Amino acid sequence: MGTGKNVMVFIETRRGKIADVSLELISAANRLAGKLGGSVEAVAIGYQLHDELKSLGQYGCGRVYYTDDKRLAHFTSIPYAKTVVRTVREYQPGVVLFGATTMGRDVAPRVASTLMCGLTADCTDLQIGEHDLKDVHYENTLMQIRPAFGGNIVATIVSPESVPSMATVREGVMKMVEPDPEKSVEIIAEPCQVADDDFLTEILEVVTEEKQVNLKAAQIIVSAGMGASDLDGLVLVRELARTLGGELGCSRPVVDSGVLIKDHQVGQTGTTVRPNLYIACGISGQIQHRAGMSEAKRIIAINKDPQAPIFAIAHYGIVGDVKDVLAKMIKAYKTKA
Ligand SMILES: Cc1cc2nc3c(=O)[nH]c(=O)nc-3n(C[C@H](O)[C@H](O)[C@H](O)COP(=O)(O)OP(=O)(O)OC[C@H]3O[C@@H](n4cnc5c(N)ncnc54)[C@H](O)[C@@H]3O)c2cc1C
Repeated sequence: MGTGKNVMVFIETRRGKIADVSLELISAANRLAGKLGGSVEAVAIGYQLHDELKSLGQYGCGRVYYTDDKRLAHFTSIPYAKTVVRTVREYQPGVVLFGATTMGRDVAPRVASTLMCGLTADCTDLQIGEHDLKDVHYENTLMQIRPAFGGNIVATIVSPESVPSMATVREGVMKMVEPDPEKSVEIIAEPCQVADDDFLTEILEVVTEEKQVNLKAAQIIVSAGMGASDLDGLVLVRELARTLGGELGCSRPVVDSGVLIKDHQVGQTGTTVRPNLYIACGISGQIQHRAGMSEAKRIIAINKDPQAPIFAIAHYGIVGDVKDVLAKMIKAYKTKA
């Protein structure tokens, strides 16, 4: 039964596996539900996912409402949105969270417009707080925090009068909790109430292309900024990444100028990463870049400008020409290896 205090997460699956972003959201939902005095629920849609959904319990999800139907094996906008709407209406959570992925960005607005409630896209933080509006005091309101005006300010958005509060959150932003094998989830079978007419498209074949770059999983990332984006600089950045067994990252202008593909981009509009070691080479450290890497366990910054903002968050700063420094680092690591 819905209490308006529960937090519901839309579960995304890709090729029968739960997407990381959904587990990150379940982790965040635990924190929010704890403050609201409610519990964590999920809405899952697909075909033959029962075994896979069991793992949700380990991340703190108490109950998953699962609609299983062969026609729902692959994502299609209208049937998925209708199923989420029906589940939200039935169980009335106070908060509904979606990944800010291609799927989440498609489903969430359809659900929000059907339910006539607000939706904040691309949140980078979620909190529970109080809000005063027109002499009314609201408690336990979802504070939806995200960069606004080109990333120049961080805005807190509230929609206390619309229930549920809904938000999409970018992949990698929320920290996934360690799974607890002792915890389990109750899987509740929901009837499929979508009609054949709701399927406006027919999926004949699914072709998937593996990503060449996996920044999210990398424990070491060596990133090139505009100060290291010429051919010589990039060769050295790549070489250091290879020497350390790490992945190659970069800042947005390096992508915009066509030097590297977007899969390498770290930051607000790129990938959010949390590696053990992040080496920023010739990166100024603007807020939009920092938004994607400031939670790295150790940050080394190399920049010729001692005032570069990246030094404010770096654990180790090296002031110097990036090519000289990189050549020395590569030599040192190779000698020691
Ligand atoms: C809405 C929005 C979203 C954005 N999203 C992102 C994002 O996701 N990721 C991102 O990275 N940016 C993003 N940006 C862009 C961001 O604002 C910065 O412009 C960008 O991060 C700067 O990249 P950079 O540090 O590589 O380049 P620059 O700002 O040009 O800095 C180059 C740095 O290299 C140093 N340098 C130059 N030559 C050398 C040398 N020989 N040796 C050592 N150091 C040297 C300079 O001192 C300087 O600090 C976004 C901007 C907006 C408006």
